[in-house]
Amino acid sequence: MARRKKQRLIQRAPNFGGFMPFGVQHSQGTEVVLSYEEYEAFTLCDYESMTHAEAALLMEVSRPTFTRIYSGARQKLAKALVEAATIRIEGGHVLMATRWYRCSSCQIDFNIDGEAAVGSCPLCRTECVTLNI
Ligand SMILES: [Zn+2]
Repeated sequence: MARRKKQRLIQRAPNFGGFMPFGVQHSQGTEVVLSYEEYEAFTLCDYESMTHAEAALLMEVSRPTFTRIYSGARQKLAKALVEAATIRIEGGHVLMATRWYRCSSCQIDFNIDGEAAVGSCPLCRTECVTLNI
């Protein structure tokens, strides 16, 4: 029996679904699917400038596992840039570090510490829904 993949901890999911290159027809274009853990690994190293060891701790995976996730992300992003592929960000085996909510009215994303129940947006008081991952 195959080993079940352990969930990776991510701080938050991106609030967009992906990217599309300019100037190419995409009816039959290439598409790259980046998982949430790959997006998180890329973000932690290349945007937040963390070391692999620091990022692995934050995602609660071993350093070699982190390096494998990160390398996969870099390879997919390189393919997308070179081949003008669409990038879709979805899926993966992730657990959110904190619960994030999106206001259906003003579209802001916010989180609340602890187990407090969320009833409404802190900005406009509209009823909110959890982010969808
Ligand atoms: Zn709101």
